[in-house]
Amino acid sequence: MATNKTVLDRYLNLPVPDNTTQCMYIWIDGSGENVRAKTKTVNFNPKSPSELPIWNFDGSSTGQAEGSNSDVYLHPVALYRDPFRLGNHKLVLCETYKHNHKPADTNHRHTCKEVMDKAADQHPWFGMEQEYTLLDSDQHPFGWPKNGFPGPQGPYYCGVGASKVYGRDVVESHYRACLYAGVMIAGTNAEVMPSQWEFQVGPAEGIRMGDDLWMGRFLLHRVAEDFGISVSLDPKPIPGDWNGAGCHTNFSTVAMREKGGITHIEKAIERLAGNHQHHICMYDPNGGRDNERRLTGLHETSSIHDFSAGVANRGASIRIPRQVAEEGQGYLEDRRPSSNCDPYRVTEAVVRTICLDA
Ligand code: ADP
Ligand code: MN
Ligand code: MN
Ligand code: MN
Ligand code: MN
Repeated sequence: MATNKTVLDRYLNLPVPDNTTQCMYIWIDGSGENVRAKTKTVNFNPKSPSELPIWNFDGSSTGQAEGSNSDVYLHPVALYRDPFRLGNHKLVLCETYKHNHKPADTNHRHTCKEVMDKAADQHPWFGMEQEYTLLDSDQHPFGWPKNGFPGPQGPYYCGVGASKVYGRDVVESHYRACLYAGVMIAGTNAEVMPSQWEFQVGPAEGIRMGDDLWMGRFLLHRVAEDFGISVSLDPKPIPGDWNGAGCHTNFSTVAMREKGGITHIEKAIERLAGNHQHHICMYDPNGGRDNERRLTGLHETSSIHDFSAGVANRGASIRIPRQVAEEGQGYLEDRRPSSNCDPYRVTEAVVRTICLDA
């Protein structure tokens, strides 16, 4: 079942009246993992999210409210160019608020922003590595044989060639869509499991990390939709001898980035060691239960039960990149966050523990 995209183009090329802007409001639903979107026309060209009206939606249909009191508010917080509708049309990232104007249960941006503001003088930078799996319309990994499995892992990571990688069209289209929209995409690569890929966002300071990663995810789902492919953020989509999917979180403060910063990196690791359980709770949308399937100690992961750190060690909770150890300054990599983590919760926990010691 596919529609004709050439016919679609005919309509998308129709001119619209001057100053008419389609604004697609995008928010995180009650799962804390999926995004929803709906569109509103405005009669001006918005330059900042604060110029756009607060809107609402039916929270009883998104796991965010009861049917008898269903309105949830949408507060625009970040604007991006729309790579699908082009022109002045906008993608509008929103926070969700309940009828009593308190943050909705899956609105973790609200407290994340407060924490980022408190730590602003330390200039926290993040780079997150979003791993994901492409699925065919039958929810089977895209390009895998329908009655069985591809050959064992080995040739697929950063692979090239028709038998090595599946779904590159989605990856290339998504990369350009991010660049066009204004998402700080840092790169992409094919992953260890066939039809699993990664894109990196960063280095982004403060709240921008969560904003750009959520918008990057929206763009990924939306681009894949055009190809009839869906995207799974499950941390272990295929059980057995297949790599899971994570969201490694690279982090630095201005002190870590300066000469001799390694001592600040070591201090940060000590603080992380003392808060392992709390971080595990924050690193997937289900309090650690999703990550339990992934953080086994095998397949380039550390055990969910233990905290560890090491230079160039991909089997540790925290990795200090080799180059950082040699130069004595830079950043650390927290390898624990799950692919379906909420980056607002992850970055808030990291900054609370490392920068605010709270
Ligand atoms: P890996 O070797 O673990 O696969 P990647 O190249 O996929 O690493 O991702 C590294 C990420 O770290 C990138 O998103 C990059 O923007 C980010 N990064 C680089 N320098 C810093 C820094 N000083 N602070 C925080 N993030 C950084
Ligand atoms: Mn209706
Ligand atoms: Mn990577
Ligand atoms: Mn990776
Ligand atoms: Mn990594």
